Amino acid sequence: MAYLTSAPRGTKDILPEETPKWQYLEKTLLETAELFGFREMRIPTFEHTELFSRSVGDTTDVVQKEMYTFTDKGDRSVTLRPEGTAGVARAALEHGLLGDALPLKVSYNITCFRYEKPGSGRYREFHQFGVELYGAASPAADSEILALAYHCLKEVGLGSVVLEINSLGCRECRKRYTQALIQYFDRYRGQLCGTCLERLEKNPLRVLDCKNPEDQRIAAGAPSILDYLCDDCQEHFREVQARLTEAGIPYRVEPTIVRGLDYYTRTVFEMVHTSPNGERVVCGGGGRYGGLIEELGGNPTEGIGFAMGLERLLATMTAEGCGFPPEEPCQVYLASMGESAGVRAFRLASLLRERGISAQCDLMGRSLKAQMKYANKLKARYVVVIGEDELQRGEGLLKSMDTGETTPVRLDEGIQIP
Ligand code: ATP
Ligand code: MG
Repeated sequence: MAYLTSAPRGTKDILPEETPKWQYLEKTLLETAELFGFREMRIPTFEHTELFSRSVGDTTDVVQKEMYTFTDKGDRSVTLRPEGTAGVARAALEHGLLGDALPLKVSYNITCFRYEKPGSGRYREFHQFGVELYGAASPAADSEILALAYHCLKEVGLGSVVLEINSLGCRECRKRYTQALIQYFDRYRGQLCGTCLERLEKNPLRVLDCKNPEDQRIAAGAPSILDYLCDDCQEHFREVQARLTEAGIPYRVEPTIVRGLDYYTRTVFEMVHTSPNGERVVCGGGGRYGGLIEELGGNPTEGIGFAMGLERLLATMTAEGCGFPPEEPCQVYLASMGESAGVRAFRLASLLRERGISAQCDLMGRSLKAQMKYANKLKARYVVVIGEDELQRGEGLLKSMDTGETTPVRLDEGIQIP
C-alpha cells in the first residue's frame, strides 16, 4: 500500500507553497534569455535511445548507468531524456532550423530523468533550464553564452557565483592530450576503480570526471589540457577570456573541468557556488560542441550552450537568502449568510474576477464566523459581509483586514475594491 501514498525514490512533489518560487525562477530565466534573443523551444520527454547514446556518448556515466530506457509496446527502445541538448539538436535538424537565419538561438525548460543515487540535491527526475546557440564558431559566441549564464544567475540574485572555464581543445589537441593522460594513468592502474580502467581504454578523458575520491586524488596530478592546446584553440580561449574581462564578467580558469558528456570541444564551463561550509555546488554547466550535429547526420555545425539544474539553483538561492516576490494573497473574500446572499456573493466574485481582482466566496456552507476565520487564513486583504439586510439595502461594508477600517460598498455592478 505504501506504493500508493509515497512517490518513487528520487522524485518529489512541488506543493502549492513552493510553486511561486519555481514560477518566478523559470520566468526570470526565460525572460533573461529573451533579452539575448533566445526563444523557447519545447521538445518531447522521450526520444529514441540511440539519439542519446550517439550524442551524449556511450562511455559516459549518463548513458552507461543513468538512463531510463524501456521498450515500448511497438518494440522500440526509447529513453526518458537525461538532458536537453540532444533533443534540441534532433529537432533543429528535423525541422531544418540550421539552414538559414543563423545563429539559431533557443532556450528550453524541461524535466530530466537520470537513474542516480538520490541525495544532496540529486534527484531521478529534476529540472533543467538551458540554452543552445547554433552556427557560430567564433569566440564571440562563447562569450555571449557565458555572459548569458552570468546574467541569469545575477538576475535571480546570485551575483557571487563564479564561472569556472576551461578549454578541451579540438580533435587534434584532444588526441595528443589523451596520449599524455594514458601515459600518466598507466602508472596508477593498480589504484584506479574498475570503471576508470575501462575508461582508460575507451575514453581516458572520462577518468578526470570520476566521482570516486581515490580516483579524484590521482586525477588531480594529471597533466593539464591547457598545455596541449594547438595555436588556434589557444587563440580562441584567449579571445573568450579577453571578452569576459572587457565585459566585467567574473571567471576563473579551471583546467580540471571536463563535463559529464562527450560532445564538448573547446570552451567548457561550470557555474560554481561555494556554500558557507566550503562545499562546491555546481548549479549548471555547458560548453561548445563541435561534432554533435555531424554525429547526428547533419552538416558540420558549431553549437554552444549551457544547462542549469533548477533544484540546485533554488537551493543555492535559498541558502544565499535571495529574495522571492511575495505571494499575491486573495484580494477580497465575500462572506455571506443565507442562500440568496450566497448567490449574490458568487455573482460579485465573478464580476470582480472579470476585472482581474482575485475574489473568493464560501463553497463549504460555513457559518459567518467560520468564513471570517477562513478569510484570515487566506490572508485576504478585504472582506465584504453580505447578510439579509445588506442584500436588501444593496450596500454592505468593506472591511480592510490590515487596519480593521470599514467603508460602505455597493453590492452590484458598482462594487469597488481599492
Ligand atoms: P554532476 O557532476 O553533479 O553529476 P552533471 O555533469 O551530470 O552534474 P550536467 O549533465 O551538466 O550535470 O547537467 C547540468 C546541471 O543539471 C548540473 O550542473 C546540475 O545542477 C543539474 N543536475 C544534473 N544531474 C542532476 C540530478 N540527478 N539531480 C538534480 N540536478 C542535476
Ligand atoms: Mg551527473
